[in-house]
Amino acid sequence: MYCEETYQETLYSGYGQNFSIDRRLFETKTEHQHLIIFENRFFGRMMALDGVIQTTEKDEFIYHEMLTHVPILAHGQVKRVLIIGGGDGGILREVLQHTAVKEVCMVEIDQAVVDLCRQWLPNHSCGAYDDPRVTLVIDDGVRFVNNADTAGNRFDVIISDCTDPIGPGEVLFSSEFYRGCKRLLTNKGIFVAQNGVPFMQLDEVKTTVHRLGSYVSDLHFYSAAVPTYTCGIMTFAWGTDNHEARHIPLVDIEARFALSGITTRYYTPAVHQAAFALPRYIETAIAESMG
Ligand code: SAM
Repeated sequence: MYCEETYQETLYSGYGQNFSIDRRLFETKTEHQHLIIFENRFFGRMMALDGVIQTTEKDEFIYHEMLTHVPILAHGQVKRVLIIGGGDGGILREVLQHTAVKEVCMVEIDQAVVDLCRQWLPNHSCGAYDDPRVTLVIDDGVRFVNNADTAGNRFDVIISDCTDPIGPGEVLFSSEFYRGCKRLLTNKGIFVAQNGVPFMQLDEVKTTVHRLGSYVSDLHFYSAAVPTYTCGIMTFAWGTDNHEARHIPLVDIEARFALSGITTRYYTPAVHQAAFALPRYIETAIAESMG
């Protein structure tokens, strides 16, 4: 009897999504994590790290557009961007759409993820790594943000495009990491980070409130629904001392979006503004964690 090969995500015990492996493209144990890239008839090419789905060709645009364009268009005058993680190159591709951005530094712990995604997921980076504005640093993000020289090296937007807080990604949810990011942010700089699916990972919201809240005066979250980050909306952490940034009038976001010349498939100025409206249970978790 033919038994279809499937990939079972192991992020949660007792629940998980699985995908038919229609074509196994590459699998290895890198210096830092287990990596598999395979083809699925519905989601296209997909990558998983340490048993957790990271990205798929079908739905990556949602996550990469929202984690990138919300902080950049909210800030309005971004010249330098720091990306932590992001080895598949999707965030880098979206940041580079902004021609006003002059420098992008990307700190990824695993060279193998960069190399294998350039080879097997080329539609994610789309040549972004070859852009002269890009500096790729292979390092642990928490080490980089705490040791990098701050003189002339601060960033208007810092994007933590990390894995879940397991394995090498765990430190990217630590106070030490947030402290390091704050020291590298400009005065009006904005920090954003993938912060899990609160229906399943509400503790990640509470932990971020406790830890990041010590370093910024405006801590909030915004959201988007990414199909393969299952169980509802996912949250993005938002941390800044720039109190206007989260309240830009829609007409101004629309003007900045039009001026930027970027093209999107998910992000719109109205979605940007609406993304900061959170369900009651998430608002309650934030308020209780701040108290
Ligand atoms: N979009 C995915 C998500 O939301 O789960 C994450 C995309 S990207 C594949 C996550 C990247 O974070 C990986 O390339 C991984 O190697 C990198 N990473 C994990 N821990 C890291 C660390 N401590 N420093 C820098 N990069 C790290």
